[in-house]
Amino acid sequence: MSNITLPKRLSVRAQIDLLNQSASTGTSFVAKMKDCDAFPLKPKGLEIMQINVGYMCNMECTHCHVDSSPRRKEITPKNILEKCLEVIDANPTIKTVDLTGGAPEMNPDFKWLIEELAKRNLETIIRSNLTILVEGKFKTYPAFLAKHKVTIISSLPCYTEENTDAQRGDGTFNRSIQALKILNGLGYGRQDDLPLHLVYNPGGAFIAPSQAKLEDDYKRELGKRFDIDFHNLYTITNLPVSRFLEYLEGEGKLNEYIEVLANSFNPFAAKEVMCTNTLSVDWNGNLFDCDFNQILKMPVAVKNSRNIMDFNAEELASRDIVFNQHCFGCTAGEGSSCQGSLT
Ligand code: SF4
Ligand code: SF4
Repeated sequence: MSNITLPKRLSVRAQIDLLNQSASTGTSFVAKMKDCDAFPLKPKGLEIMQINVGYMCNMECTHCHVDSSPRRKEITPKNILEKCLEVIDANPTIKTVDLTGGAPEMNPDFKWLIEELAKRNLETIIRSNLTILVEGKFKTYPAFLAKHKVTIISSLPCYTEENTDAQRGDGTFNRSIQALKILNGLGYGRQDDLPLHLVYNPGGAFIAPSQAKLEDDYKRELGKRFDIDFHNLYTITNLPVSRFLEYLEGEGKLNEYIEVLANSFNPFAAKEVMCTNTLSVDWNGNLFDCDFNQILKMPVAVKNSRNIMDFNAEELASRDIVFNQHCFGCTAGEGSSCQGSLT
């Protein structure tokens, strides 16, 4: 677990107030979207269901937008997961199921869910923090995931120990390398049917460098130093939400960071943001345009389908996506999504 000092906690209400304040005193995200004819923005079609299966995590990273830790108790119950499967079966446009957390592996129904998803013609992704794969009973999970051809996407903020541990806690880098070697040994990152992707996010209040260039650097360094292979590197911008917003506010840098993002606004990325093809489900079945809106408790803008239990594809398809200032993180530079850059 991390020994990093975390910033003072802000309530969701206080976070929204800070974001609203930055819109009234600086550049407004909605105004920028209007300028490029991208507001209101509607979904293009539901392709990805992102299910947050619980906020509990074995780690406690400084940038975590979910505010996850070993102390979080929210875990998605099985009846919600069963309903997700029912919705997936009834909506064949959904081609990808993306399991997030916390550490998704810590949900007690995780293995059952993977087995159920494997029976369907879908890509199943898990966002694994790697370190959990070398702990206790979870050591058996890499082979289980390989058996079911699950795609693994994992954060590795840098190819150096110093930078990775600064963001994610002491010992993270070495445990991540250990897990990557095990995954490579099973064929992950080396076979086309066992995709392994890494995620870079900046270690501070700046925009990620070019994804293609950084991928070359990661491949060269991890290959040379550890003989590690992976398929793609995704760069993901830190959005001013939860712990990262608290950090920015604590440093008095929130408005400055939002202006940095706003000054790099990319109109192409604006029309391709991930909320146009993704729906996020929280541990309690509530529906959101994305994982970030989930954490800010900004629900989908519909009257009835606010929970997976009341899922109505037509109503959700006609909704307007809900924005606030944190959305500048998705439209800055090359654009940012859970699948990396947008351009
Ligand atoms: S960033 Fe990922 S690994 Fe770190 S605390 Fe959050 S969910 Fe856990
Ligand atoms: S933060 Fe969410 S709602 Fe805002 S642009 Fe990004 S994906 Fe869309």
